[in-house]
Amino acid sequence: MSIIAANFKSNHTRKTTKDFFSKLNTYVKATKYKEDIFVFPSSSSFIDSNNLEENIIQGTQNAYPANKGAFTGEISSSHLDEFDIKTIILGHSERRYVLNESQDFIADKFKFYQDLGYKIIYCVGESLELRNEGFKSSLEYIWELFDKIDISYSKLILAYEPIWAIGTGKSASQNDIIQMHECIKAKIHKPLLYGGSVNAKNARSICSLANVDGALVGSASLDFESFKQILENTKDL
Ligand code: PEP
Repeated sequence: MSIIAANFKSNHTRKTTKDFFSKLNTYVKATKYKEDIFVFPSSSSFIDSNNLEENIIQGTQNAYPANKGAFTGEISSSHLDEFDIKTIILGHSERRYVLNESQDFIADKFKFYQDLGYKIIYCVGESLELRNEGFKSSLEYIWELFDKIDISYSKLILAYEPIWAIGTGKSASQNDIIQMHECIKAKIHKPLLYGGSVNAKNARSICSLANVDGALVGSASLDFESFKQILENTKDL
C-alpha cells in the first residue's frame, strides 16, 4: 500500500478542515482502509483527533524548535501537544524559498523534533534552473539538502518534490521520478514519497513506480472527493 499525505498549506478553515476529517474518518471506517493517511491542516484548524481512526494522522506543516517562548507568530511543541500531534513536515520548498528558511534552521528543527520522537516528513527538491542544468546538478543539490540531517532517524519519511512540479499541474515525468528516486533510495533507506502535482488521474501510475512509496499531495488534496479518489486508486499497490 502507498503512504498518502495531504498538505493543505494555507487553505481550508476550521470548519472545512473539520468537515474533511469527518468525511475521511467515515471513508476509512467504511472501507477498512489500513495504511497510514497523513493530513496536514493549517495550525489554526487543528482538530481534537480523539475520535479519528488510528491510521488517520494529523500533522503540522511547521513549528518552531522550542517548547514555548518569545517567537512571535510561531507555534511550538507545547501547542502541538494539546492536539497529540507527533508528525511534522520539514524542508518543504515553500518554507525554504518563500519563508527563507536556511538549511541550518531546518536542521535545528529536525534535531529538536527528532529528540521529541516526531515522525518527520522531510522534503527535498530542485528548482527548474537546476533541472535545466541537468540531472547531475539536481542530484548534487539534493544531497546538500541533507546537510546536518540525521538520515538514519527511524521515524524519517522522505519526500522528493521537484519545485517546478509543485502546484503547476504538471508532475515530473515517470523517468524523472524513477531516476531521482533510485538515486535517493540507493543512499537513504527510508520510505520515499513523490510530491508535485499528484492528482486522482496520475496517482496510481506514479505510486506504482519503482522506489515510490507514496505521495505528498497539495492542491488535489483540498477537495475531499479528489483526495478520496487518490486513496482509492492507490490502496492496492
Ligand atoms: C506540495 O506542495 O507538497 C505539493 C505536492 O503540492 P501540489 O500537489 O499542489 O503540487
